[in-house]
Amino acid sequence: MKAVSIGSDGQAYVENRPTPALTSPDDVLIRIAYSGVCGSDLPRIFHGGAHFYPITLGHEFSGHVVEAGSGVNHVKPGSPVACVPLLPCFQCEECERGYYSLCKRYNFVGSRQHGGNAEYIVVNKNNVFLLPDNVSLLQGAFFEPITVGLHALLLAGGCKDKHVTIIGAGTIGLLALQCANAMGAASVTAIDINDDKLDLALRLGASHVYNSKSESAEQIRESSLDRRFNQLLLETAGTPQTVELALNVAGPRAQVALVGTLHQDLTLSQTAFGLILRKELSILGSWMNYSAPWPGEEWRLAAELFTQKRIDLQPLIANIENPEGFAEKIMALKGKPMNGKLLMKINE
Ligand SMILES: [Zn+2]
Ligand SMILES: [Zn+2]
Repeated sequence: MKAVSIGSDGQAYVENRPTPALTSPDDVLIRIAYSGVCGSDLPRIFHGGAHFYPITLGHEFSGHVVEAGSGVNHVKPGSPVACVPLLPCFQCEECERGYYSLCKRYNFVGSRQHGGNAEYIVVNKNNVFLLPDNVSLLQGAFFEPITVGLHALLLAGGCKDKHVTIIGAGTIGLLALQCANAMGAASVTAIDINDDKLDLALRLGASHVYNSKSESAEQIRESSLDRRFNQLLLETAGTPQTVELALNVAGPRAQVALVGTLHQDLTLSQTAFGLILRKELSILGSWMNYSAPWPGEEWRLAAELFTQKRIDLQPLIANIENPEGFAEKIMALKGKPMNGKLLMKINE
């Protein structure tokens, strides 16, 4: 089968590998349809951040079941599925409480084992989410990124009647924006430093947008005074500046959900720290996208939102490529901010 692999030299290339086969009754063989590149893959490609090389990445993919072991009940050959990349141990105390994202003994498809940038993959039955009838395979490849935002929104107790602010209008942010609207937010504000992304946010349902390069935190706060109570902010950009911006623009007693991972140290000024106290902010960390019962409410809600056509994916897609084009486009991501989702289409 064809697979797009990454070498330790940071090169993406198409290779031929034997098609994997089931080795356990709990295994499922999937013929992949769509597989996307995640921002979290970039360090694995360009900065030696993968667990081994050469590696086939890909944890955001969909496809059809070809073969299922005797211990698999929820899918059968022909079932359309999305990948649930985490495989927690299901035995530790964190797992017993349903805190699957916090499990310490886990496997992960597309980082600790080969992923979905290939024609076929074998995964455990718990890594397989059955797609409802009217959810497409293309939508299937977006379950992973959409559930990241949904996890944060659910940890915050939902967003009904809340004034939601999304900081960072990348894939995760623009998906979370649409989820917040669908989940009954009173308003949804997007903040970014890129006007094109903010235009997209408006098209996708943002009620207000601000460019934090041209508008200061004070200006943003001043112009949203009528929306200052009952706020939920989602920080998805993962930079020290945007974390501090979140604290600055937050209203009294706002919830600040931190979703983006930092790639450098964050030093908070005394004043910024004081804002947490003086505004009585609730700071909430959000990690991955799982809850009980496995894989979680996030995944069922994503299926519902896709079924109800509440999520527009087309504007979020930069390219859909065959394996050769996909490998080329991966190399073109080097040193640049991700601008829309790059996907491989291999079968359908
Ligand atoms: Zn991802
Ligand atoms: Zn565990």
